Amino acid sequence: MHEVSIVNDLFRIVLDVAEKEKLSRIDKVHFQLGRMMQVVPELFRFAFDSAKADTIADQAQLEIEFLSVKMRCKDCGHEFEVDQEDFCCPQCQGVDLDLLQGKELFIKSIEGE
Ligand SMILES: [Zn+2]
Repeated sequence: MHEVSIVNDLFRIVLDVAEKEKLSRIDKVHFQLGRMMQVVPELFRFAFDSAKADTIADQAQLEIEFLSVKMRCKDCGHEFEVDQEDFCCPQCQGVDLDLLQGKELFIKSIEGE
């Protein structure tokens, strides 16, 4: 269950930011997760709930936004979204691809006071 380690890493950053911003309470945290990271929302939520206990975020709401996987074909330059497991360019069937988006583990915003 790699959600736990992802949440723990992200949560440490959330608390760091909150400290720098001198927040005494975190109300909401908004994460952006690339689909390629294959995070299961229920497990992420569960890990978040256990990480936030006994912190200034213990009442915080969790918002998860998934970012689609986007690739650029190195052969023809076509950019496309991917939703299946094996990746190839829909235009030229090329398999030499650059990942443009999909591996993000971002904290988009932290709300609190
Ligand atoms: Zn192509």
